[in-house]
Amino acid sequence: MSHSRQTIREQLPPGQNLLGLNPRMQTHATLCSSAVKKQDKKHWKRNADKSSSNCETLENNFDDIKHTTLSERGALREAMRCLKCADAPCQKSCPTNLDIKSFITSIANKNYYGAAKMILSDNPLGLTCGMVCPTSDLCVGGCNLYATEEGPINIGGLQQFATEVFKAMNIPQIRSPSLPPPAEIPEAYHAKIALFGAGPASISCASFLARLGYSDITIFEKQEYIGGLSTSEIPQFRLPYDVVNFEAELMKDLGVKIVCSKGLGIEGMTINTLKEDGYKAVFIGIGIGSLPYLADLTTCA
Ligand code: SF4
Repeated sequence: MSHSRQTIREQLPPGQNLLGLNPRMQTHATLCSSAVKKQDKKHWKRNADKSSSNCETLENNFDDIKHTTLSERGALREAMRCLKCADAPCQKSCPTNLDIKSFITSIANKNYYGAAKMILSDNPLGLTCGMVCPTSDLCVGGCNLYATEEGPINIGGLQQFATEVFKAMNIPQIRSPSLPPPAEIPEAYHAKIALFGAGPASISCASFLARLGYSDITIFEKQEYIGGLSTSEIPQFRLPYDVVNFEAELMKDLGVKIVCSKGLGIEGMTINTLKEDGYKAVFIGIGIGSLPYLADLTTCA
């Protein structure tokens, strides 16, 4: 896959990068605590809340095989139904604050590239989330069309549709033309940055840093494969590895490096050895399950 992406880039004459994904630049992350988002979600929710105490038994239950996938015709019909609400409770209930009504408007206009650009701008893991987010409990749960006969908008299906079309276009992400050239960017942007764990947290963090212009970013992954929980815990029928790889490749287009089989505590690597190697910032995205492991490492650092 990476070979064909490279080939497409090589084939583009200089100055014809117009096809490249140039995400909307966001100089600051939209910081919203989980507690605030949960409050918002509760306020706008139109269906019953799901929690670990009231969810159904999932043993031998394969109902969650993706049933929301849309064809182009289905996607257009669904996008036309959306009211583009002024209050947009769908966006308020989305943990990544995705501009849902905007990307749905683009789909309705058959601008699938524009829709994917909006999705991937707000969320570098836009396809993954379109495929596996529990939307009925989040954006779809707040949709103003919940009470109608046709029901709420299939937001996850639309998100998957637009990003899959973009994936099939097989075009790389490009550095924002609004950034100064690498040789003229302030020295701080060349700082060495290490991220631990090549799962959703680090892939998202590294993508936003690279879009801001940071040029020396390395993700260390202790496994031989990338993706974190998306690869190791979510079954292939819900989230194929191809999708994880697509989003990692988009991030790598901006120069982010991934080193597998390496991480904190492996071959004597600690925060101190990273400092000695000139790293200026560290992001730890190894997942909550690894917190006891992190406590050990803090001790050894
Ligand atoms: S709440 Fe539903 S109908 Fe309104 S903008 Fe969001 S998806 Fe569209």
